[in-house]
Amino acid sequence: MALETLPSAFDRALSGEDAIELAKENEYAAILMDINMPRMNGFECVEKIRNLPFHRLTPIIFITAAGNQEGYIRQGYEVGAIDYLSKPFDEDILLSKLNILLALFNERKSTEEALAQVRFLQRQHEQLLNFTAEGIIGLDVENVITFVNTAACTLLTAKRNDIVGQSIKDFIDPLSNNNDWMASEFVQTFKENQCNQDDNSLFWRNKQAQFPVQYTQSSIIEDDERKGGVIIFQDISERKEIESQLVNLAKFDQLTGLSNRTLYWEFLEKLTANCQRIGDNLCVMFLDLDHFKDINDTLGHDAGDLLLVQASERLKDVLRNADLIARLGGDEFAVVLQQMTSINDAANVAQKIIDVFSQPFYLFGKDAYIGTSIGIASFPEHGTDAITLTKAADTAMYHAKKSGRNNFKFFDNDMHMRIQSHIEVTNELRLAIKGCDILPYYQPIIHIAENRISGFEALARWNHKDKGMISPGVFIPIAEEAGLIEDLGQFMLLKAGQQANQWFTGNYSDARNNLTIAINVAAKQIKQKNFSEQILTLLTENKIAVNHIKLELTESALMDDPMDVIRQLNDLRKAGITIAIDDFGTGYSSLSYLKKFPIDYLKIDQSFIRDIGEDTNDEAIIRAIIQMAHSLGQKVIAEGVETQQLDFLASSGCDYAQGFLFSKPVPWGEAEKFLPVR
Ligand code: C2E
Ligand code: MG
Ligand code: MG
Repeated sequence: MALETLPSAFDRALSGEDAIELAKENEYAAILMDINMPRMNGFECVEKIRNLPFHRLTPIIFITAAGNQEGYIRQGYEVGAIDYLSKPFDEDILLSKLNILLALFNERKSTEEALAQVRFLQRQHEQLLNFTAEGIIGLDVENVITFVNTAACTLLTAKRNDIVGQSIKDFIDPLSNNNDWMASEFVQTFKENQCNQDDNSLFWRNKQAQFPVQYTQSSIIEDDERKGGVIIFQDISERKEIESQLVNLAKFDQLTGLSNRTLYWEFLEKLTANCQRIGDNLCVMFLDLDHFKDINDTLGHDAGDLLLVQASERLKDVLRNADLIARLGGDEFAVVLQQMTSINDAANVAQKIIDVFSQPFYLFGKDAYIGTSIGIASFPEHGTDAITLTKAADTAMYHAKKSGRNNFKFFDNDMHMRIQSHIEVTNELRLAIKGCDILPYYQPIIHIAENRISGFEALARWNHKDKGMISPGVFIPIAEEAGLIEDLGQFMLLKAGQQANQWFTGNYSDARNNLTIAINVAAKQIKQKNFSEQILTLLTENKIAVNHIKLELTESALMDDPMDVIRQLNDLRKAGITIAIDDFGTGYSSLSYLKKFPIDYLKIDQSFIRDIGEDTNDEAIIRAIIQMAHSLGQKVIAEGVETQQLDFLASSGCDYAQGFLFSKPVPWGEAEKFLPVR
């Protein structure tokens, strides 16, 4: 039959029942149905098929025998036929009809599929929108809300129905009047078909409370025309909370609640700039509590903390609200006073602070007395920027402390000069140590009984390009303060050690081989836990013979951590180094205490030696020291021997002498003359 030529498969049913069974299972582009069939005629069959799920709209063509057509036509159309064909019919006409129906069917199928796809995507979108944590609001061109997702409902604490249909104004700026609203950035952004992002805004809940949000608004544009807008927003309360905590941590002192160093600088920088612009004045005060460390050490850190809290309360009481009070760290405070009518104002405030601080502080049941030293610098006299003013106030405070504490000092230019020159000298000294402008001078030490040289003491000299030779009395304190003393010590040990190697080691007589060079060690050096190790490393690395090295330490250097010093001295002595106590008699140590230390020599301080022949008391002391030292197995050296004190020393049993009587400290070339001949 001609149906075989169709571009589609077809089913054939031999009865109405068969046709219904097939129709239950399949969709068809068209059904051809005879009217006259056994048991069930075509109309009945079509009625049943129409009720099946796939076939509400399936085109049905009835095929009739010739002559019957007239009576059936109406009935056929009533049950849903779309056409009649009378037998015998033209096959070509049937085929072209079926081809059209087939094409329509295929078209409908693909439309249905596309629709299903669209529905799927829509459902997916809705779910996505509802699952995102961001609130999403859809708006029409009038800024009326047409869509909200679940998150938006939660964040705005309202039901979907109460939001959709409202103007977005109710949630962004419900209190503004209409004109202001229309002129607002939000409305304008949409008007101009733009997008906008705001990281720091507020939305309203129920027109009652605001909450911080971050939002983006985007226009929806179709065919160059705005069809509406979308807002995506997030509640940033938590972030804001954390931010404000961080700001608090970053700008305020956690113990006292005062401004901290950061805020102090920020404030002062702004204020100085402002004062410069409008010609206003200001004062910076630096305060340091006197004896705070004692409170901490004796009453404990909790008491120290309590004291700081009470101190800041007293400061707040004395100062005006406009004044900035900052804790810069430890027991250091700064105050910035604004709009002073005269410099006397600052003096009055400083005096008031000193007065309230001299009242006792009550700490855990105990009265504690402290005081405060204050330095004051004023704008613009002492500086016009934060750094200069701060330095000036700090310097003035340092001077207040130096001149007896519990008072205040204004900065003056003398202080400035002194600081400047101090800074310069420190820098020069740093370079001098690096650049070998420090030289060891050598002063011979004489064995009294045998009248022979026993060695030298190396004494540092700074060969300054402009100022000439500078003595250690001047630069050692600077080196100590600037943390350069360790470097200086290492430098001297290396130079003197190399000199000792050159002078004493080699093919020489015992008279030379037994000589030593003494090097001075600062108290700060021996406080380092690995001091002995450092020295021994330096000596071995430079192949310096340890047995020619003597170290001189002062009494005070021994006393700080005696157990540790004893340990380190033992290490040094074990390695072959000898130890002398310098300036003996000027410290606080008792002779019996010295027994505990592994010491080879005592150097009696020059102040005792100077008085020989004049002060019998001193002579008695010298004798006692010598006897005592000998009984402990120690040798005694007299320092600063200038004249005929030598007889007394010899008769008292003193072992060695050193002083101008024999020689001043001299450069190595001159010192060489004292060496015994090979
Ligand atoms: P010191 O270790 O007690 O050195 C003895 C000081 O007395 C030296 O002063 C020396 O020149 C001086 N002197 C020696 N004989 C006489 C004398 O007969 N009469 C008088 N009036 N003085 C005499 P100098 O060289 O000025 O050193 C002073 C101090 O500086 C030293 O006292 C020492 O404590 C320290 N010092 C020197 N060089 C160094 C060093 O390299 N490192 C360390 N840490 N301190 C050093
Ligand atoms: Mg010395
Ligand atoms: Mg000395």
